[in-house]
Amino acid sequence: MTEVFTHPDYGRVDLVRSVLADAGIACEIRGEEKRELIPGMPMPSCDPALHVANEADLPRAKSVVAEFLAAEKQRAESSAGTEWKCAQCGEMVPGNFDSCWKCDALRPCG
Ligand SMILES: [Zn+2]
Repeated sequence: MTEVFTHPDYGRVDLVRSVLADAGIACEIRGEEKRELIPGMPMPSCDPALHVANEADLPRAKSVVAEFLAAEKQRAESSAGTEWKCAQCGEMVPGNFDSCWKCDALRPCG
């Protein structure tokens, strides 16, 4: 068992693959190619999965992936939680609002 990460979205699996590659861990994506075996037949149960090339790398790969996902989650939460100040009325607006809840002015860039 060398699977370290799986996700229905191939782009996401590929993103994690590049994170592991940066960490010096060789890995490959499996699962995609199985869809080619039966043309025209979707296989929803077969999500692309990321496998490490060497099973010895698995524990380290898992911790790299866990760290990456935790950092990503933290980034998403902190950007949603940062308040911004409305340039028009000076009101503090929660970070998940794109316009001022009070005067409807758009969020300033940056
Ligand atoms: Zn405002």
